[in-house]
Amino acid sequence: MKGFAMLSIGKVGWIEKEKPAPGPFDAIVRPLAVAPCTSDIHTVFEGAIGERHNMILGHEAVGEVVEVGSEVKDFKPGDRVVVPAITPDWRTSEVQRGYHQHSGGMLAGWKFSNVKDGVFGEFFHVNDADMNLAHLPKEIPLEAAVMIPDMMTTGFHGAELADIQMGSSVVVIGIGAVGLMGIAGAKLRGAGRIIGVGSRPICVEAAKFYGATDILNYKNGHIVDQVMKLTNGKGVDRVIMAGGGSETLSQAVSMVKPGGIISNINYHGSGDALLIPRVEWGCGMAHKTIKGGLCPGGRLRMERLIDLVFYKRVDPSKLVTHVFRGFDNIEKAFMLMKDKPKDLIKPVVILA
Ligand code: NDP
Ligand code: ZN
Repeated sequence: MKGFAMLSIGKVGWIEKEKPAPGPFDAIVRPLAVAPCTSDIHTVFEGAIGERHNMILGHEAVGEVVEVGSEVKDFKPGDRVVVPAITPDWRTSEVQRGYHQHSGGMLAGWKFSNVKDGVFGEFFHVNDADMNLAHLPKEIPLEAAVMIPDMMTTGFHGAELADIQMGSSVVVIGIGAVGLMGIAGAKLRGAGRIIGVGSRPICVEAAKFYGATDILNYKNGHIVDQVMKLTNGKGVDRVIMAGGGSETLSQAVSMVKPGGIISNINYHGSGDALLIPRVEWGCGMAHKTIKGGLCPGGRLRMERLIDLVFYKRVDPSKLVTHVFRGFDNIEKAFMLMKDKPKDLIKPVVILA
């Protein structure tokens, strides 16, 4: 089978591989729709998680089951499924501690396009199918469904980690697809004022659609000053970090109120350290909490997100600005994600 792969740091291309085979609990899935992620760009072009050779990329897919292992109970060939970006080993102590994303080691629940071939192949392997796949209702179009495995779960996790309360004021730094779902998640959790930070007009429009009450452009001056001006010098209750570079942590610490929470879902792909500004952190005594997390995966998470789309609590299709058809266009979609033209939020490739 063929797949679009990371050949080495900085290099991508098409390769041929053996079609994977399922273990007793696993499934083999054929992708029906895939999307490239900014994380793939960090992985390939920044070498953010180290060298990888001939690893098929991609971790955002919905697909059709083509083969299952002997112990798989709930899925059979022909089923349409949502495949989470994070497919943990559920029989691990990290899962028992409540952190399935780190099953088997830090970030090790993230397998596709990290430690094994991803979803940009003609077929891909899913470990523990009963625990990691979710049935896709026929009413949800593929373009919307493929925003569930990563964009929705990540953005919503930003809102969850931030522990948004009814009426909380929130800044969402970065309004690409991930930050936009952070805004949608914050709104669903009852946030009051939601200030989005970004510059591309298409993202600004989408941010308002998903619930931003104010928009700040980081190109128009220091964002801490802009937030303080908007909030009469008080700052905000919560900050979700979903874009920008390492400087955004100090900015978040500076704009969150004492007792506030900073929730990072951004993938910091370069540099050795993130800075916490001493004075703005109350010399360590401001009760400002900093959290950061990999998106939740697994079956139940996907089923819950599917319900949010099915029952029209959120419409992720607004994220999808470019739709391609055919396997060969995966490369084009991937390069768009690298170049981020002004009219792009998220490209999708339909393979059905
Ligand atoms: P995008 O590149 O589409 O969006 C980034 C956003 O950040 C844009 O709105 C951009 O503004 C804004 N931005 C850029 N520079 C700054 C700055 N200096 N200050 C403030 N804002 C800035 O990325 P995605 O939405 O696709 O992904 C966001 C991050 O989430 C990535 O790092 C990705 O790897 C990560 N991620 C993390 C996951 C997790 O599990 N935690 C899962 C999936 C993704 P502009 O409008 O100018 O472009
Ligand atoms: Zn991703």
